[in-house]
Amino acid sequence: MLSDQVLYVVIPCYNEQEVLAETAARLKDKMNSLIGSHKISVHSRVAFVNDGSKDDTWSLIEELHKSDPLFSGINLSRNRGHQNALLAGLMTVKECADVVISMDADLQDDIDAMDEMIDKYLKGIDIVYGVRRDRTKDSFFKKVTAEGFYRLMNVMGANTVFNHADYRLMSRRALEGLAEFSEVNLFLRGIIPMIGYANDVVYYKRGERFAGESKYPFRKMLAFAIEGITSLSTRPIKMITGLGFMSFLVIIGILIYSIVRYYMGETITGWPTLMVSVWLIGGLILLSLGVVGEYVGKIYLEAKGRPRFIIESFINESKDTPNQNHREEKDKND
Ligand code: UDP
Ligand code: MG
Repeated sequence: MLSDQVLYVVIPCYNEQEVLAETAARLKDKMNSLIGSHKISVHSRVAFVNDGSKDDTWSLIEELHKSDPLFSGINLSRNRGHQNALLAGLMTVKECADVVISMDADLQDDIDAMDEMIDKYLKGIDIVYGVRRDRTKDSFFKKVTAEGFYRLMNVMGANTVFNHADYRLMSRRALEGLAEFSEVNLFLRGIIPMIGYANDVVYYKRGERFAGESKYPFRKMLAFAIEGITSLSTRPIKMITGLGFMSFLVIIGILIYSIVRYYMGETITGWPTLMVSVWLIGGLILLSLGVVGEYVGKIYLEAKGRPRFIIESFINESKDTPNQNHREEKDKND
């Protein structure tokens, strides 16, 4: 029996002319084998998103599309960064696909993990995260900074799946859930776990970039980490409030110290008053900043206009039960 599940593989590309031909050839084999084993439909596609590349990436994508309808292309008006390019791809193919897998153009993420992802999807899982089992192929510097990044994120209250980058499978209804998030400060790894639905992970070995250079130098990685923390969590603000309380503890310490010294008869005139007032004022300023920050944090989260819930199913016996999602519509048409 042929599968009717249309898979789209979405790949953001920024100055990737060195890797595109090879990536396309490897993915073509993979897609053909998945189609051959009747896991996905013959209408499945590989969609390259050109993120305002300065090299020949887009003309290469156009050539690929002409040579084989398996390849499609989305051209962004200018460079918007990996996360936005990925979102643009996902939102564009959402209407034509039943299931989408996103990955990087350099195929550092093992494409053989796709089979396992699809198997899980066919068993009813909506989101499958690709998780790196080890980083032996990454340079020491990349490994330390990247793993430090995940730890920092979690300490700062931005919960993400450890060692999961943007290699993942999403069903159409998960994509529709994602479309409800209207925020502009985009950090997909943090938002996608908020969608909910059944999810699972697939482990794989991360390989080396086979050609070209990393488009994520340290500077961009740091900016990405700060974006991740500030777009997901207001914990840094809470830390200011914490500092304010800490300075009150210091005041109490100084007071006790001064009283003890007074009874021991070694008072330095003016010292306790000076110390206490310095720490008191400092503490009050920090606390007030924290309070203002809490409100700003609330406004910030409100301004994101995130969905407050996503309904997975509605069981109800009524003459005209509304359609839950496209899947049901599709099933009816079948
Ligand atoms: N990328 C993008 N826009 C950018 C930077 C990167 O679309 O502004 C894409 C890039 O083409 C690749 C993916 O994001 O497909 C990940 O980049 P890279 O492999 O260089 O990152 P690394 O693996 O070194 O973290
Ligand atoms: Mg890479």
